[in-house]
Amino acid sequence: MLKGSCLCGGIRYEIDAEIKAVSNCHCGQCRKASGAAFGTGATIPAASIRFLAGEELLKEWESSPGKRRCFCGRCGSPILKRNDARPETLRLRLGTLDTDPGVRPSKHIYVGSKAPWVEIKDGLPQSD
Ligand SMILES: [Zn+2]
Ligand SMILES: [Zn+2]
Repeated sequence: MLKGSCLCGGIRYEIDAEIKAVSNCHCGQCRKASGAAFGTGATIPAASIRFLAGEELLKEWESSPGKRRCFCGRCGSPILKRNDARPETLRLRLGTLDTDPGVRPSKHIYVGSKAPWVEIKDGLPQSD
């Protein structure tokens, strides 16, 4: 069981699934949503996440049609993304995990939009 929480601790969740295929997304939306060089995410079954606290704090913003970015309304931590076209899965933001998912990022995506001040030196595959 993996556990995670937002910065203020208001939202706490657990995930009963194995996390696979972690990617670092350099698209402009993920950079702005995270405030960092890229967003690190993985797809999980929607049914595998259970909120232990603070589900009512979860706010969402539709960043493109049907794509909802969900974050803590108190501290702003990005928690997950939902896509109306794929309700059976969620895209989890790995930065809010408190336990080690055991996997490591396998690729960089949307590298064509990466911040000019970022150099990727880890040798992982990159795609635009
Ligand atoms: Zn919070
Ligand atoms: Zn992205």
